[in-house]
Amino acid sequence: MPIDPATFAQRPSRIVHWVDGAPAQPAGTRTADVYNPATGSVTGQVVLGSAADVDAAVASAKRAFPAWADIPPIRRARVMFRFLELLNRHKDDLARVITAEHGKVFTDAQGEVARGIDIVEFACGIPQLLKTQFTDQVSTGMDNWTLRQPLGVVAGITPFNFPVMVPMWMFPVAIAAGNCFVLKPSPVDPSPSLMMAELLKEAGLPDGVFNVVQGDKEAVDALIAHPDVAAISFVGSTPIAQSIYEAGARYGKRVQALGGAKNHMVVMPDADLDQAVDALIGSAYGSAGERCMAISVGVLVGDVADRIMPRLIERTRALKVKNGMELDAEMGPIVHAAAHRRINDYIGIGVEEGAQLLVDGRRFDPASAGPGCEKGFWMGGTLFDHVQPHMRIYREEIFGPVLSCVRVPDFAAAVELINAHEYGNGVSCFTSDGNVAREFSRRIQVGMVGINVPIPVPMAWHGFGGWKRSLFGDMHAYGEEGVRFYTRQKSIMQRWPSSIGKGAEFVMPTAK
Ligand code: NAD
Repeated sequence: MPIDPATFAQRPSRIVHWVDGAPAQPAGTRTADVYNPATGSVTGQVVLGSAADVDAAVASAKRAFPAWADIPPIRRARVMFRFLELLNRHKDDLARVITAEHGKVFTDAQGEVARGIDIVEFACGIPQLLKTQFTDQVSTGMDNWTLRQPLGVVAGITPFNFPVMVPMWMFPVAIAAGNCFVLKPSPVDPSPSLMMAELLKEAGLPDGVFNVVQGDKEAVDALIAHPDVAAISFVGSTPIAQSIYEAGARYGKRVQALGGAKNHMVVMPDADLDQAVDALIGSAYGSAGERCMAISVGVLVGDVADRIMPRLIERTRALKVKNGMELDAEMGPIVHAAAHRRINDYIGIGVEEGAQLLVDGRRFDPASAGPGCEKGFWMGGTLFDHVQPHMRIYREEIFGPVLSCVRVPDFAAAVELINAHEYGNGVSCFTSDGNVAREFSRRIQVGMVGINVPIPVPMAWHGFGGWKRSLFGDMHAYGEEGVRFYTRQKSIMQRWPSSIGKGAEFVMPTAK
């Protein structure tokens, strides 16, 4: 049944689960309010799943698994191709709903959907990605090859800040590889999960292959403990990532748990300062700093700070902070009231710790964001200078539009500072010296590195993942690491009766 674009854009205000290819009512009665952060108004209620809801979704996925895993990869890829077509047709509808529930500006939401679509395109190549290795004649009359087979039912637990892209880091690859998937999205912006479920169904995905359980900790705990869930992919904050990694391991599950970040951008004295200023402003305040790859620390080397600080102040003050549906908006609201309070508190802590507050985003007037925004969760960009490594605003993830600048004397001090930080998600270095760039890339203890690139989010076929306390587990998300995560290797050795020698053999088999 094709989706009418008009109704598609108008989402239901009660957001339920998706099980067995259809919307599903919860077993319990718990719900949470869903807000439009720009206006501060409640736009809907999302149901909060219980263990019974998780049981129903996992049972549906388990039933669907044998038939789905048995379908030739090229036919699974064809479903992905149809999904891709539908996503392209509905990408602005998805972006609109992201803006309505998350608050990020519409053009940024379009970018989020586009980066999710990249992964679906990658998953369309699954026949090639599942190709394995074959050795002819490992012994006389005997061959050895490997298969990569799907795991079964796998689950994804995702954060609020990318309600389309982060689930798409997971389920296109998992499903194309032959698994069945249960998504537990963030309750903060849950509607896109159902839109993706509807599009997958329209693309011809068999019922039960993709399910959604809305909810919070209760649903997550049930997924981790469930004996029929083989693997968990998690993206969210570090304390939850670590606890999920540990609990998953206790239950014998395969887990990849991507956590929080504190991303630094080094500006060397030889950098193109126009580019560096643009990069700092865009990556610190884009999506209101609520990106795991946002730059939250500027590391200003030598005399750079004195040269660029006046421009950073001016640009931070001039940010167009507006309702995200305005096409010229550069920064939207903060996602919810609790996050708004947390970021406000951090700015206060920074002042108490002795950092120099140059632009105070707490002073922003919500009325200037546009009509109806007076009760929204608004703040402007905040800029600190002379931040020191011992300060909480340097050590902890604020996850808001706050740029902390640290002054260091030279390149070695910049590298030492970054390598000592507990997080290692993304990092960037702006320089015009190739050798500095090369040394930085090699020495820095961070998973994703940009040279004159502020937000180095790897493309679909390269895989995404940080180091240190930004990732618990061995495999990065998507790319070939994603294919490996969602499949397990089987090795097959084979010979046929005419080549089998006579009599039992009691010594270790060797090539003959
Ligand atoms: P969060 O950790 O609060 O929530 C993430 C998911 O875990 C959600 O689905 C949530 O419902 C669930 N959850 C929350 N508390 C839980 C608990 N006690 N037990 C079990 N499950 C729980 O994160 P968030 O606020 O939604 O997202 C922001 C965080 O995500 C930031 O720390 C950001 O850096 C991180 N993030 C990391 C990446 C990455 O690739 N490393 C990407 C995006 C976001």
